[in-house]
Amino acid sequence: MNTDRIYLDNNATTAPTADVMGAVAHGLIKHWANPSSPHAMGQEARQALMQARTQLARMLGCKPAEVVFTSGATESNHIALRGAVGFNGRQGLVLSAAEHAGVQKLARHLAQRQQANLGWIGLTPEGTLDMAQARDLVTPHVALVSVMAANNETGVLMPIGEMARLAHAQGAMLHVDATQLIGKLPFDFDKSGADLVSLSAHKFHGPKGVGALIVRQGLNWPALYQGSQERARRGGTENLPGILGLAAATERLTMAPQAWFQHMASQTRLRDQLEQGLLSRLPGTVVFGGEATRLPNTSYLRFGHLHADVVLQRLERLGIMASSGAACSASGNEPSFVLSAMGIPREEALCAIRFSLSIQTTSAQIQTVLDRLPAELAPLMAEHAAAAGHPAFPSGAFA
Ligand code: PMP
Repeated sequence: MNTDRIYLDNNATTAPTADVMGAVAHGLIKHWANPSSPHAMGQEARQALMQARTQLARMLGCKPAEVVFTSGATESNHIALRGAVGFNGRQGLVLSAAEHAGVQKLARHLAQRQQANLGWIGLTPEGTLDMAQARDLVTPHVALVSVMAANNETGVLMPIGEMARLAHAQGAMLHVDATQLIGKLPFDFDKSGADLVSLSAHKFHGPKGVGALIVRQGLNWPALYQGSQERARRGGTENLPGILGLAAATERLTMAPQAWFQHMASQTRLRDQLEQGLLSRLPGTVVFGGEATRLPNTSYLRFGHLHADVVLQRLERLGIMASSGAACSASGNEPSFVLSAMGIPREEALCAIRFSLSIQTTSAQIQTVLDRLPAELAPLMAEHAAAAGHPAFPSGAFA
């Protein structure tokens, strides 16, 4: 990475670490044979695949047999949602308004083809689930409830345990898109109560194009790609170099509770340093979902009424990589659907900027942002406020 740049867009993707690169190279060089081949080289590749499966299972608190390797969270989400069509003779699919754009589009596609009846759980102003609505929507007609563990834009954590109890009480399954949570907070599959869990390696310093769907043992979930690999749950020759890279990335996350505590505390400290610093230097800054329980690395905010495009231009000039929301749907002209679902007015939602940190973010980088960004934005905010008739910010507030 160019060391002059400050990368604060880790919810979009993270940089692969040296151990991950080494594991991918090892897979390409040493284990290029097909893990399904019965000869010695194939069997060595198979051994490596089994070891990677065990490593991921250990990190997630699931059984190795529950791991289905996929090309990433998008595919895992597709297996989960498409597999729910007609499950137990049911057509109902309940999902939250915070789900990833890919999940929402797929759900609408299934509904258009009359393969599913959709129920949408709305969001509270703080970005968590409207549980009263959830209780009304989860009925005995529902096959699957799909709720993400943490939102990719706000970082707000969703009540997974409660949703599992709600779904199971009605005989429905619970799918959790844990793509943004894994790597940032500990996750235990058995304790979560989820039946299906999606993840992507590149969100926690693994390679792109590889992930997994965890499928609770005994649940006969249909495949999207037919074939014999992954116990016939996902056909296609395994991406072993990618899977070895994923396993290397999980090793770092198989931590004792004390180590997790320190990991989370240091992430939160840096995020709070950034957030508090911006709030105090730039009055008029507002954090979205700031009162909710959030991922330790994510800060989603607006600088007064400055449009996100204007802020992004300034950030770019300073070499600070951030985003106006989800990388997959950030367009600039449409407000974030997550913020809209939280009831944030369009003109405020169009000002949203997301900073997302990682284990590679340093205190010095955050200090550099705090030293440089307020001087760039304060005059613009004051100008904008004056033009719009808002009270101008006190002079010197950004010194
Ligand atoms: N779900 C969530 C919550 C995500 O943030 C993302 C990535 N932005 C995905 C799913 C899709 O992951 P991938 O692009 O790796 O398939």
